[in-house]
Amino acid sequence: MILIQQLKLRVPHEEKEIKAKAAKALLLGENEILDVEILRCSLDARKKPEIFAIYAVEVKVSGEKRILDRALKNKRAKEQFSLSTRVKYQFPEKNGNLCNDIDEQSRPVIVGAGPAGLFCAYYLALAGLRPLLFERGKCVDERQQDVERFWNTGKLDPNSNVQFGEGGAGTFSDGKLNTLVKDKDGRNRAVLETFVKFGAKKSILYDAKPHLGTDELSKIVCNLRNEILRLGGEIRFESQVTDFVIQSGKLEGIVINGTEKLACEFLVLAIGHSARDTFFTLLEKGIPMEAKPFAVGFRVEHPQKMINESQYGMPDPGPLGAAPYKVTAKASNGRGVYSFCMCPGGYVVNASSEEGRLAVNGMSYSGRDGKNANSAVIVSVTPEDYPGEGPLSGIRFQRELEERAYELGNGTIPVQRYGEYRKDGSGENARTMRSDEESNIDVNASESILPQCKGAFTWADLRSLLPEECRKAFIEGMGQFGRQIKGFDREDCILSGVESRTSSPVRILRDENFSSKIQGIFPCGEGAGYAGGITSAAMDGLRVGEELLKRLTNS
Ligand SMILES: Cc1cc2nc3c(=O)[nH]c(=O)nc-3n(C[C@H](O)[C@H](O)[C@H](O)COP(=O)(O)OP(=O)(O)OC[C@H]3O[C@@H](n4cnc5c(N)ncnc54)[C@H](O)[C@@H]3O)c2cc1C
Repeated sequence: MILIQQLKLRVPHEEKEIKAKAAKALLLGENEILDVEILRCSLDARKKPEIFAIYAVEVKVSGEKRILDRALKNKRAKEQFSLSTRVKYQFPEKNGNLCNDIDEQSRPVIVGAGPAGLFCAYYLALAGLRPLLFERGKCVDERQQDVERFWNTGKLDPNSNVQFGEGGAGTFSDGKLNTLVKDKDGRNRAVLETFVKFGAKKSILYDAKPHLGTDELSKIVCNLRNEILRLGGEIRFESQVTDFVIQSGKLEGIVINGTEKLACEFLVLAIGHSARDTFFTLLEKGIPMEAKPFAVGFRVEHPQKMINESQYGMPDPGPLGAAPYKVTAKASNGRGVYSFCMCPGGYVVNASSEEGRLAVNGMSYSGRDGKNANSAVIVSVTPEDYPGEGPLSGIRFQRELEERAYELGNGTIPVQRYGEYRKDGSGENARTMRSDEESNIDVNASESILPQCKGAFTWADLRSLLPEECRKAFIEGMGQFGRQIKGFDREDCILSGVESRTSSPVRILRDENFSSKIQGIFPCGEGAGYAGGITSAAMDGLRVGEELLKRLTNS
């Protein structure tokens, strides 16, 4: 296949125009192009509102070498044309003997049905290893009801919420699938192809910023689960692994829901970044782990129209969809400040999982048609910032922030306008806008912003929420972002607190063969500190699956 990069087409255009453009670039007639596969599409908005799509495509032609040599005669073409060297990821095939030989104790056990656990289970099920997966939360449909009830009534189910349940943390999200993880073995595309196989739109395979939206993601998770079951896997919901039986440095078994014992030799720990009770149990059991840096801050909301204007040069970008953004800055105290998990046309969600503690995150539906754009604007923190010592000091840090947020919002999401937040002093002379004052703002004026939250919110004074060092860095960062995107630091943009679950504050140590020092335990995914995001967690699930298949087939 010939790889053609930098194929530029004005937006909007028809898909068939891509083939015509590729043929023209190779000095061929359209009918000489046997097949075209889009590998990547990114947008070029430097001449906004004129927007261009930049494609990388793989083209099948007969007489490939002759045509490529001719194309490469043009000096400037060296960058644009080459032979495709794309690596296709190989999923395992069912190994009949293996299925029969494997005894119950050697059956791989997976804890957690997030992207890491599900993709690990899918990989092992394809190989015929009948994986057994335990998930403390409920299946996605029942979970959806629990989450809606929590957002509508504030009644939290500590085991079935935005963090816990089938599909994992990212199920109620924008379902962004991009990752910075470099992967020469094709796992990234294999994860995206698997999402397409179970119902995702094909464009995620080549969009530079692929996303699913929470409505699509839930369906895809169901289809993937049913395939794992069809292949002989087993998934048990409302089954929390509450203890680990370890003898002389080797795993012997686990305990489920405090009572049921199960002997097992191979355990994948794909528990996510919010399984705090499980982290404390693992620490007691002597599983080596360490505190790791992460970041905290606020969800920040702006009118989506303002972002569209800034990114695409038009308030309504039509087929382009709501515009995303990414901003980064360095504060004078050396801390990084950056936007994270940006949700175009999205909502701020109450993503709490513990009573008396409040954390926020963001989500969008596949249409991304909400009024506001939001992202987490977060400040980097390190173990030096955490209270006390030890691998779980970061969890203590998170809990303190979330307790403060819970108090400030009286159990609902505390929100404040940025103009108020950046006023000096820690609350003495600053004043919280009374709700009637709030109503003085002409809410119908197109530019006034109102919180778009899933879960109740309360106007509050957030200035004492973050440690002062982080607050200073946050305000400096907002100032710099205001120079990158006009209006980013406007007085009336809205902050919601606290964004504390940006990644895991812990790393469960593993060696180059993905094994903990405790034999039989394989830390995996975001919670273990080896991934950040849906796709990278799924890719880590595949890697650990490959390792277990190797060990179970001694290959
Ligand atoms: C609201 C929100 C929006 C997000 N948006 C995006 C996005 O748009 N794009 C993106 O890439 N990432 C997003 N993320 C982050 C992404 O969801 C995570 O990075 C990813 O889900 C990590 O996958 P994981 O499988 O490692 O862990 P998780 O998805 O956290 O899954 C862990 C699972 O383990 C279960 N579990 C924990 N302890 C136990 C136990 N003891 N016994 C049994 N089961 C247990 C949990 O219930 C959970 O279901 C978002 C996260 C949130 C919360």
